[in-house]
Amino acid sequence: MRLRAGVLVRNRGRVAMAAALAAAVGLAAALASHAASASGGLLKVRLGGDAQQSRLVIDLDQAASARLVCDDAVDGHAVLVLPTVSAAGGLQGAGQGLVKAWSVDQTSGGARLQIDLAPDAKIKGRFLLPPADGIDHYRYVVDVIAQPGGVRMVSTRASNAALAMKLRPQIAPTRVPAAPLRKVIVIDPGHGGHDPGAIGAQGFEKDVNLAAALALKERLERSSRYSVVLTRSDDTYVPLADRVRVAQRAGADLFISLHSDSGPDATVRGASVYTLSDKASNRAARFVKQDDWFMKASLTGDRGVQDILFDLTQRATKNRSAAFAQTLVSRIEGKAPLLRRSQRDAGFMVLLAPDVPAVLLEMGFVTNPDDEQFLRDAASRARLMNAVGDSIDDYFAQATRLASR
Ligand SMILES: [Zn+2]
Repeated sequence: MRLRAGVLVRNRGRVAMAAALAAAVGLAAALASHAASASGGLLKVRLGGDAQQSRLVIDLDQAASARLVCDDAVDGHAVLVLPTVSAAGGLQGAGQGLVKAWSVDQTSGGARLQIDLAPDAKIKGRFLLPPADGIDHYRYVVDVIAQPGGVRMVSTRASNAALAMKLRPQIAPTRVPAAPLRKVIVIDPGHGGHDPGAIGAQGFEKDVNLAAALALKERLERSSRYSVVLTRSDDTYVPLADRVRVAQRAGADLFISLHSDSGPDATVRGASVYTLSDKASNRAARFVKQDDWFMKASLTGDRGVQDILFDLTQRATKNRSAAFAQTLVSRIEGKAPLLRRSQRDAGFMVLLAPDVPAVLLEMGFVTNPDDEQFLRDAASRARLMNAVGDSIDDYFAQATRLASR
């Protein structure tokens, strides 16, 4: 464990904190790119087209690129992130033509555009247009067409001209009926590849974590409310910095890391949830002063937890992570044994971004025969992950209620 005491000191400037974190965990690149984001502004979003071809235009005050986070191929919902664009406040609106609904909001990874497409539509192309022809700003264009097959296709050039004529500003009124937009959930199965994690009598932690992550993904994707991104989907080693980067790039709304515990005492069992709270951070800071913090921090013996980074800079994130952790604990109660010192306030924070709630769930002890049996059984694992899915539903339902007050 290599985190330094400085990481845990509160009341530092954000820059100093970020620098300390970067130095501690070699995340300089990720943090630098994060800091560089939100530099350009989104002016407005325009939409035009018909049932054959539609175009969405994002007007920007500077050049920008976009990444496709979730493909439209599966269910007609596409998510794009423009890393250097800021969309403070957010926009959303009704659709037109093949675009049924859209929204732009701000995430830690930049501005995020979500589009719901008509059932027979797909994204045909995306590109940046520089200022030209009397237009003094950049435009990021997303072209959508009806899938070939029975649908009359029109010449691209002709239809582009037609679309340009029909485009109209559409700065969204707030009460437009839009299709429900999805939350991006990043699931992080701990360990992998050459890093087996904890070792049980029947196998490795990494395999249990991955199986659970896939079960949770399946549970979440049964509802159309979520887009799910995994930090790994097979038995490969993914460095921590890359896991964080995956979440940042996806514009995660919530990050959940799945682990399985181990301990020297085979009778110890149960799940625990880690997040950050004032109490925990104070406690951690005290341990640092005592210079034996790492020993205390490794109570569970799970290096995955020790390798989690700390971010004490953002109260809002702490509160949101804590709110989710509490929901999670109440939902998994009864589905899995909970460790008596169920550690909703005793923990460690996945550093992600200032505004993304993040928790780490230790699903049980692979060093306890009952827990290991439970975690290695597909049906009980699915029950547990269903409960986790329920807690994610609860969390966003609460967040929505709060936001609409
Ligand atoms: Zn672990």
